[in-house]
Amino acid sequence: MLRFLHLYPEHMNLYGDRGNVLALAQRAKWRGIPVEIVHAGPGQAIEWSMVHLVFLGGGEDVHQARIANDFYSRRQDLTVALTEGLPMLAICGGFQLLGHYYRPQAGQDLPGIGFLDVTTEAGPSRAIGDVVSDTTLDLHPGTLVGFENHSGQTYLGSGVAPLGRVRWGHGNNGRDGTEGAVRQHVIGTYLHGSLLPKNPHLTDLLLSWALERAGEVVPLPPLDDQPEWMAHQVIVARQKQPAMSGVRLT
Ligand code: GLN
Repeated sequence: MLRFLHLYPEHMNLYGDRGNVLALAQRAKWRGIPVEIVHAGPGQAIEWSMVHLVFLGGGEDVHQARIANDFYSRRQDLTVALTEGLPMLAICGGFQLLGHYYRPQAGQDLPGIGFLDVTTEAGPSRAIGDVVSDTTLDLHPGTLVGFENHSGQTYLGSGVAPLGRVRWGHGNNGRDGTEGAVRQHVIGTYLHGSLLPKNPHLTDLLLSWALERAGEVVPLPPLDDQPEWMAHQVIVARQKQPAMSGVRLT
């Protein structure tokens, strides 16, 4: 049995990010792997040793502010679990809170748990549009696709690798060509969409990490996922321009 924890689903679920949890569960079920999806909101106790993968979606500044202190209060136990190999996927606002801080346009800095060596500050405009990146992970094909909508400009420190290099779109900050961040089995990214249904290879990588965490290292037989790959290739093919030309800053 794989147990997926969906963190703050009532607050952090922008642009259908919940679809990532559904994609993970469905690709496991199609292989006959039983899955349990559990949820935790502010103040709810979590036994991290019983969890095989954590998902944290994106959220507007106001929703990030409502959960940031609760998430920060979990930093010690969560950091131990992540360091032991607990897989986690965090999207946009969730990604920002895995870093050291997020500085919104107005108001106080929101504290991050600092597991990813990144910092984020809101920029003067929003990055909105499709993203195609060449991932640093060992995936084939090597592309990741998604949709971004954020004002946050994220910069990576030395303790973390980018998830990919932008072919099309804004990415972490629209300047250094990076998108997302990876450390051990933790992935932060700006790719909404939701991300995983259009990136089945990444879904299966996360599933393999969750199985490893559960001590059930089993092969993941290939699936008939032609529709998923068609959706992926449509976005890749649509972005024939060089990186940055797709940036639309409102
Ligand atoms: N509020 C953050 C930003 O605008 C994150 C937004 C999101 O999760 N899409 O950068």
